[in-house]
Amino acid sequence: MPQLARFRAKHGPVEEPAPDAVASILHVDMDAFFVSVELLERPELRGKPVVVGGQKDQRGVVSAASYEARKYGIHSAMPLRTAGRLCPHAIFLDGRHEKYGEWSDRVASTLVNFSPVVEMVSIDEAYLDLAGTERLHGPPLAAADKLLRTITQTTALPCSGGLATTRLTAKVASEQAKPRGLVWVPPGREARFLAPLSVRKIPGIGEVTERALRALGIETVEQLAAVPQEQLEKIFGQWGEALYRKARGGDSYEFVIDAEPKSISHNHTFGQDTDDVHEMATMLSHLSQKACKRLREAGLAARTLTLTIRYAGFETHTRAKTLARPTQLDSDIYTVFQELFRKHGDTKRKVRLLGVSLSGFTQGNPQLDLLEAERREKLAKLTKAADRLRDRFGFGKVQFGGSLCADDLDHNREE
Ligand SMILES: [Mg+2]
Repeated sequence: MPQLARFRAKHGPVEEPAPDAVASILHVDMDAFFVSVELLERPELRGKPVVVGGQKDQRGVVSAASYEARKYGIHSAMPLRTAGRLCPHAIFLDGRHEKYGEWSDRVASTLVNFSPVVEMVSIDEAYLDLAGTERLHGPPLAAADKLLRTITQTTALPCSGGLATTRLTAKVASEQAKPRGLVWVPPGREARFLAPLSVRKIPGIGEVTERALRALGIETVEQLAAVPQEQLEKIFGQWGEALYRKARGGDSYEFVIDAEPKSISHNHTFGQDTDDVHEMATMLSHLSQKACKRLREAGLAARTLTLTIRYAGFETHTRAKTLARPTQLDSDIYTVFQELFRKHGDTKRKVRLLGVSLSGFTQGNPQLDLLEAERREKLAKLTKAADRLRDRFGFGKVQFGGSLCADDLDHNREE
């Protein structure tokens, strides 16, 4: 989840789609992500019912199930013991979230090569805006196809995509595409695409809303779309407006990103002051990777790298290096921190804290100069929107728009 990302609810009249609208929003979703990562190391489990989250006699819930396990009715968030009863011969694995995070970063590093506008909304899911990337990757449909193939080729992990004019439609489309598929919803076809689906397929419509709608005789999106907005608002209040929007494939939240930060830093204070060079090198690598991840999520590259060493007794030294060219690559950045540490660290003294800081930012991936202008324009727009929000709600207080939209952004669920 990019720490710089914010969401807010959309209000006001539902926009008529522009006549020249292009389906450029791509929702990328990894298929049974945690299971797929486990299968990389244990290919002998392919084709078998596999459940990740813990053992079948343990408390706790399923965090992911293979498609074979789903045939037995197992799904994420189900108690492990229930899953064990439904399919006793399934293979149960403990979750290894650090590992999933590493693979998620690898996927993210592919995504940023396809667009300057990438929103990682959870560990295995992202939205991209492919508008304006034609010169590099061709029209959005070709780019989406290339992107999914690239992920599969570089990580051997299966994924699916949905390409549409809105995030909501793109998300539903990627769900329909699973596994290993791509569904394209051309502009103007959103309502027709959604019409036959159960209302439950719409992100944000959970059990409670589903039940309330069923009581009104509404089960499909088509039936929901036939209800006038005023009537939905009379029944559901502000949520009615969101439902009206959703039934037409419209987004009920929008994405804004914070104004660019001046620096990105990570520090670590050792539990006990240390002179173990190996321990310090490992920590430096960890801090450097964390900072780089945030850098890429923010779509930035850094030129100035600053290392902080605090020795026992609180004496603090900072040393910086400015690169000839900005970078967002882990390897470049870690090499510089290692160099700074070797040159300036006093290995005879015990160290209390290590810190890394990245600054001197430029926008975008240096490899994507072509997209710079487009990105600047988008960032300027998004930044303005973020500032307006801050004026209204106070700095840093801008959060998910309305609890009712939280379902859209359910990070714990993995599909
Ligand atoms: Mg998924």
